[in-house]
Amino acid sequence: MTTRSPHVPRIDLRSDTVTRPSAAMREAMAGAEVGDDVLDGDPTLAALQDRVADLLGVEAALWTPTGCMANAIALMHHLTRGDRFLAPVGAHVLEAELGTSAWLAGGLPAPLEHDGGPGRPTPAAVTRAAGTAGPYFGLRTRLLCLENTHNGAGGAVTPAGEHRALVAAAHDAGLAVHLDGARIWHAAAALDVPVSELAAGADTVSVCLSKGLGAPVGSVVAGSAAFVAEAWRLRKMLGGGIRQGGVLGAAGLVALDQRKDLLDDHRRAIRLAEGLQALGWPVRTPDTNIILVPTAEPTALVSALADAGVAAVPFGPGVRFVTHRDVDDMMIETTLDRAAALPVPS
Ligand SMILES: *Cc1c(COP(=O)(O)O)cnc(C)c1O
Repeated sequence: MTTRSPHVPRIDLRSDTVTRPSAAMREAMAGAEVGDDVLDGDPTLAALQDRVADLLGVEAALWTPTGCMANAIALMHHLTRGDRFLAPVGAHVLEAELGTSAWLAGGLPAPLEHDGGPGRPTPAAVTRAAGTAGPYFGLRTRLLCLENTHNGAGGAVTPAGEHRALVAAAHDAGLAVHLDGARIWHAAAALDVPVSELAAGADTVSVCLSKGLGAPVGSVVAGSAAFVAEAWRLRKMLGGGIRQGGVLGAAGLVALDQRKDLLDDHRRAIRLAEGLQALGWPVRTPDTNIILVPTAEPTALVSALADAGVAAVPFGPGVRFVTHRDVDDMMIETTLDRAAALPVPS
């Protein structure tokens, strides 16, 4: 057991959700103009929702407290009992939302292999999995749920052309498309394309304001005006109708401005991955801000890292590091120094 000096400050690379709201964000929250969003609207939330709808190139949007609620609302809208939905293996809706896609939305999940590249199926696999209408006792495949970036695949980016081809294959087969875009901002920054390019054609989209953008709370679910009218009802059913939400919406508006800093997080993630590779660690250079270390002993590695002053999380068959706005260049170099003192994971 290594003994760590209590004076060694911990470097927290568990997630891009561990960021603290900046002084400017707290100031915007304190000064937010508010109303009662359950009664007749909150002006700051309305401004945030309009801005996200514009960025995504859709008609309307609705703020939600969490990404899980945003996804649940979309899936409840698209699915009912007796339906099936498709999603890439390891998708957040499959693995990290307690099965709400099944027990709340009523859809039986069918995971699709990543045969199109990290985090994504091919359009041909979507067509095949959609199948054709069978006998009355067969499940009806109704929805394709995409994820960009794909968290479980290490923040993997789906390029705009492939996104469009997947949407087209789904629509041709009569499926609706939901895009879990919790980190769509990261994909757009990495590809240097407008966010709307990566949402093109999706019937509904969810995004997070707290994954790397620095908001303490908040997601948005978006789509047609008709969908969003229904989403207000579904959010209320889930207990997500909030009153003076502008205090939180103001944080979301500042978070959207902080998109410009994401490329710094990506640059630091690449530096960390390349540094670990130089130490012999089996990591892939990331597309965005997530680094996965495959290892047979995730718990042992996380605890050795913790003893050395680096916080990471066990993740699938390995360990995950995530860079974010509260980690600077110095902290990445310190992380590499601390990793150098550990045995190479296998
Ligand atoms: C974090 C995350 C969510 C859910 O967001 P919460 O705000 O934690 O509920 C959904 N999808 C993906 C891909 C995520 O990474």
